[in-house]
Amino acid sequence: MRLAKTLLACALLAGPAFAADATGLEAGDIAVADSLRAKALAGSTAWSVVESLTTEVGPRLAGTEADARAVRWAEAKFKAMGFDKVYLEPVTFPVWLRQRERAEVLAPFPQPLVVTALGGSVGTGDAPIDAEVVEFATLDALKAAPEGSLAGKIAFISNRMVRFKDGRGYGPAVGARSNGAVEAARKGAVAIVIRSIGTSSNRFAHTGTMRYVPDVPRIPAAALSNPDADLLVHMLGRGRPVTLRLDISAETREAYTSHNVIGEITGRELPGEVVTIGGHLDSWDQGTGAIDDGAGVGITMAAGALIGELPQAPRRTIRVIAYANEEQGLYGGKAYADAREAAGEIDAHQLSAESDFGAGRVYALRAGVDPAAWPVIEKIGEVLAPLGVATEAGVGSPGPDVGPIVAKGATWAQLAQDGTDYFDYHHTPNDTLDKIDPKALDQQVAAYAVLAYLAAETAVDFGRVPAKTTP
Ligand SMILES: [Zn+2]
Repeated sequence: MRLAKTLLACALLAGPAFAADATGLEAGDIAVADSLRAKALAGSTAWSVVESLTTEVGPRLAGTEADARAVRWAEAKFKAMGFDKVYLEPVTFPVWLRQRERAEVLAPFPQPLVVTALGGSVGTGDAPIDAEVVEFATLDALKAAPEGSLAGKIAFISNRMVRFKDGRGYGPAVGARSNGAVEAARKGAVAIVIRSIGTSSNRFAHTGTMRYVPDVPRIPAAALSNPDADLLVHMLGRGRPVTLRLDISAETREAYTSHNVIGEITGRELPGEVVTIGGHLDSWDQGTGAIDDGAGVGITMAAGALIGELPQAPRRTIRVIAYANEEQGLYGGKAYADAREAAGEIDAHQLSAESDFGAGRVYALRAGVDPAAWPVIEKIGEVLAPLGVATEAGVGSPGPDVGPIVAKGATWAQLAQDGTDYFDYHHTPNDTLDKIDPKALDQQVAAYAVLAYLAAETAVDFGRVPAKTTP
């Protein structure tokens, strides 16, 4: 239905030859996209946006006073960057606040360990937990332990995340963080520590969210730094019982309402149809949230603003979304998708993408669209090729906050980034501005600007993606 409407509009304005092209794009559109790419490469505003966010707001754990400041920051920044419509949408979630986190080996070789509480973890209570450590090589090994075998013990999963350019080491490793506490509690454990889900060799631990399930005791969960996980493995290798003291406290609060902050460049012909790009506004509490995900916010704000500076807006609306609370459960992405479904606006989404993989250069364009629209993706890929970006069919996935609307049928694109060092900094105190190369950020702005502009301009509709075909 939308396809017919779009093609009709274009046919009236541009003549039949326009609609005949499978890409729905004219030479003039490509020239505009080329100019956006060149302008971004010559120096974009993305780095200064991330500098502003990390300097003026800093860590912005969801539900904190800093979260509220970040929302005000984003609203003001969108306006200052010339977006012609800026608004907030409510996102409600429970609040978790880190307090104390300490660990030490009591025996046989007493010494302190560097540890951090996992997001969502309960505390250890009035007194620390002192218990013997039982090591498991993987989450699956823990699951295979006999019932009750961990009664009174602390489980330790020592699996090490593997480094890859595309970050594929994360998926197989992260289950230990997400589900380790539940599986350990099922075996009777009183707490769990895991090797950090991250590739840093620095002596700090990577945090990240974990979950509980009904009817399984809630036990404290923490991550050891990689070198401290090594240390514990070496001690356990002596074959003698190792006793660990874990001392964690965290505060949980009633539901808090934050906001998705949205800025738009209004489309000139089909303002009700949108191309969305964005990043998440919240961060973990230890670093300043520069790469996760100040970069994504900065890249997509800068790309949107660049399109806003064109003499003529693209056919459809460019919507840049700074999502609330991605880190603790994709709350912003879910709230956005639910609101669009309630309003009957899923079909209004031409294409959606999120930048949430740090600040490394983009190397691939991937997409989940109607096969009839694939020639448009290939055409966009041609404009991205000078950036070192390859077009890859049949692979990829939407960004985390885009996932919920894709599950409802919206189409997506992914600009895959080089994540070789992303997990050195991810969810650590080292997630700071100095890790970002401004020139790499400009390359990403160029890629997002080209993608968003051409997706908004093409006469072709990207259709819908059946939920079953999406990751
Ligand atoms: Zn992130």
